[in-house]
Amino acid sequence: MNKIKKRARFYCRLSGMALLFVAVAAYGQDPEALSEKRMPDPKTELLADSMYHHLMPQQHFHDKEQLIKILQQHEGRPTDLKHIEGLGQSDFEMHYLVFPLRVAIVVDPARPDQLSLPRIRKGIEILNRSLSDAWIQFKTVRIDTIYAPVTINSLKDRNYEVYYAFSIAHDLRDTISLYLVDNEENLCEDYRCARTQGFSNILETYTNNVVIDKFFVDDFKVMPHEFGHYFGLLHTAETVFGLERVDGGNCTEAGDRVCDTPADPGEVYGVYVNYSNCEMKGLKEAGTGLEYHPMINNYMSYYAPCYMRKFYFTPGQLDVIFYAAVHIRPNQIIELGEVPEF
Ligand SMILES: [Zn+2]
Repeated sequence: MNKIKKRARFYCRLSGMALLFVAVAAYGQDPEALSEKRMPDPKTELLADSMYHHLMPQQHFHDKEQLIKILQQHEGRPTDLKHIEGLGQSDFEMHYLVFPLRVAIVVDPARPDQLSLPRIRKGIEILNRSLSDAWIQFKTVRIDTIYAPVTINSLKDRNYEVYYAFSIAHDLRDTISLYLVDNEENLCEDYRCARTQGFSNILETYTNNVVIDKFFVDDFKVMPHEFGHYFGLLHTAETVFGLERVDGGNCTEAGDRVCDTPADPGEVYGVYVNYSNCEMKGLKEAGTGLEYHPMINNYMSYYAPCYMRKFYFTPGQLDVIFYAAVHIRPNQIIELGEVPEF
């Protein structure tokens, strides 16, 4: 029973980064099979490197010149630009950057399952609450229905080839698409259950979307988690860049490369967690004997929710989100907004 529960909690079984590495490995075997769009974008990689090395949490959020540059780069509205230029440095205050969002409900004609608008609105409110400290907000600009016989699993078929074809057919250039997709009808086979709740590429500009299982549209964690990937965040327990040490000495290079999220051994060690006080205790790093203290209720961790505790992003993670939003996703036309009311 325990085993079944654990497998069912995975959020995205193959994150964007993992996908990137799969693509590179495949290239070695059969160069013809890999289309160009799948290759890492060198400019994006360079930006990502500088992003992880020069994080200055929250500082650039309050710089007038920076904001003007961002608005110019994103083809912001002339009235927004004039408004900021007209402010003196002393009376300057940061404004929310509002990104347009297109919601697309993907409906399988063979088993049509629509999604109610209140649930979608609630999901976007949950997303906006999670991003408000990064000064990023989403405004729904259109809602479409796409009739296609796909599931979240079938999109991953043939090493995500189906997903790339779907993205090319349906993505918009200047607006992020949120695809709300069905899952498999049968989630459990051979006494094993698995469910992908959503996925999104990390720091890759060939696709411009986030995919979420319809059922989780108003989940408190799934949307912020997947948009976290979209805006450059790795899992707190990520190991593709190496294991982060408990003393944090290699924190810009290993783990999730964000230094204010402590080393996370991963949900396999969930048995060391007390979910009432949201703490891990007793698990020690091999060699040093230092105890792990990961952030259990971080949006980018894989642990179960803690009792009565909110999920959150750290200031370092918020900084990655902001930086990626304005530098790595520059094709989004943005406008300035007021403090959102929740
Ligand atoms: Zn994930």
